[in-house]
Amino acid sequence: MDLECDVLVIGAGMAGLVAGTISSNEGVSTILLRKGQSATAYSSGAIDVMGYLPDASEPFSTPSEGLTAVAAMLPLHPYSIVGYSESVQPDTVVDEIVGSARAAISWLKNSLRDTIAPLIGSFDSNISALTVFGTTKPTCLVQETMNSESLQDEDSTLLFAGFAGYPDFNPSAAAKVFLEDRIAIGLPPRKVGRCVLKLAPFGKLYNLSSIEIARHLDHGNSIEELAKQLKPQADKLGATHVAIPPILGIRNALENKKLLEELTGVEVFELLGVPPSVPGLRLQMALEGLFRKGGGRLLAGHEAISYTKNGELLDAVMVRTPRRRMKIKSKATILATGKFIGGGLAGDENGIRETVFDLMTVTGTYHSAGDITPSRFTNRVSITPSSQPVYSCGLTVDPHFRPVQEDGVEWSSNLFAAGSILAGYDYSSEKSGLGVATTTGYIAIRKAMDFLKGVDLK
Ligand SMILES: Cc1cc2nc3c(=O)[nH]c(=O)nc-3n(C[C@H](O)[C@H](O)[C@H](O)COP(=O)(O)OP(=O)(O)OC[C@H]3O[C@@H](n4cnc5c(N)ncnc54)[C@H](O)[C@@H]3O)c2cc1C
Repeated sequence: MDLECDVLVIGAGMAGLVAGTISSNEGVSTILLRKGQSATAYSSGAIDVMGYLPDASEPFSTPSEGLTAVAAMLPLHPYSIVGYSESVQPDTVVDEIVGSARAAISWLKNSLRDTIAPLIGSFDSNISALTVFGTTKPTCLVQETMNSESLQDEDSTLLFAGFAGYPDFNPSAAAKVFLEDRIAIGLPPRKVGRCVLKLAPFGKLYNLSSIEIARHLDHGNSIEELAKQLKPQADKLGATHVAIPPILGIRNALENKKLLEELTGVEVFELLGVPPSVPGLRLQMALEGLFRKGGGRLLAGHEAISYTKNGELLDAVMVRTPRRRMKIKSKATILATGKFIGGGLAGDENGIRETVFDLMTVTGTYHSAGDITPSRFTNRVSITPSSQPVYSCGLTVDPHFRPVQEDGVEWSSNLFAAGSILAGYDYSSEKSGLGVATTTGYIAIRKAMDFLKGVDLK
């Protein structure tokens, strides 16, 4: 069976789902392919726009401040490319970049309002969100279950609560790091405690994963059981707030938070965590729900493997599933296949390559990455302030987000790219991942729709 659509989106992470939802909401027939899981589902579920410049120790206090610095200092960054359109006057480049990112982030926040992953925060300030390590990280929006704003009150007392048999969160270590960090930045010490609670999701007592705990809390009277253990611990410490790992539920997290708060009398919030990530999964499911609601067709387990071209136009994409192969013809295509986790890029002894169209790949400094082995771009120390240069590799695009070849000319006039497949930025050191994916998905689909309307994309 072959299919046809106006817009084909390859990849269902943040970038592809933003692009696909916008086009299907506007009545454009849209098919979205997802071969497997995305980095979006592994993320902490908080939307970073711009936290740091590489090697900087101080975070940006607002996304706008970060984007203004990017526009001035990182001309190859995907955010900077937003400002290169011919219609943008030189003196309005920064306004264009900040305005586009702001519009994309507002669209995302509004769209997710009535889903299982509603967001709080605004483009006017970065939030200093607490992580499972007891550290903080700058981010733009967090899920409502992570709201810890009132923790800023000087008389608040914080209890870190972990779970027996759950190895991904150590409340003692988190409490210690939290206090040490406060002292290091000159804040007064604060009363902090820790406790360990017991749950047996589906009868299991050890080696628990966050997903198992979250599923357990979505059912029956498990929140009431949790509250019975938590309340005496919170009362003993005089806690005003309880920080727990991100396990509050997959489908009912916000309701669970409210019930737990009602039963314990303290504010409960989720910390930003590590994969496997319950909030990341919530975000992924919420975005997929939005896309379907808008009338889009999501083909899960479908992998784009090759293509046909008709002159300079991409004509069709060949797709495979374990049981069948098909051809999808589209008038415009968005490539949002992510990096190494999503599978948009792959690296071996021959170099780093783009996996569907074999497009040119470059390093963060725009040197060819097609014939350089990935190990040349990795540091021995896994977590360094400057991160791993391999994360900055990807595709180079024109001002309309169309991948270009060695000669600087677009590979095809109807192929657009968005998200982490783009080169020139490092989400892990900058704290910009889902912000770049949202903004470029938002812009790339508008360019694709302009193309469909016959606008001349010079
Ligand atoms: C552990 C971890 C934690 C992170 N935490 C944060 C965070 O807290 N905040 C933040 O802002 N960012 C975070 N990031 C970064 C962020 O997750 C990514 O930058 C972002 O999700 C990239 O989105 P994307 O849509 O470009 O790609 P992805 O989310 O990776 O999506 C790619 C999609 O393409 C599909 N695909 C690939 N190839 C094909 C093919 N041939 N055919 C069909 N489908 C295909 C994949 O199955 C997937 O659906 C984190 C990243 C990681 C790895």
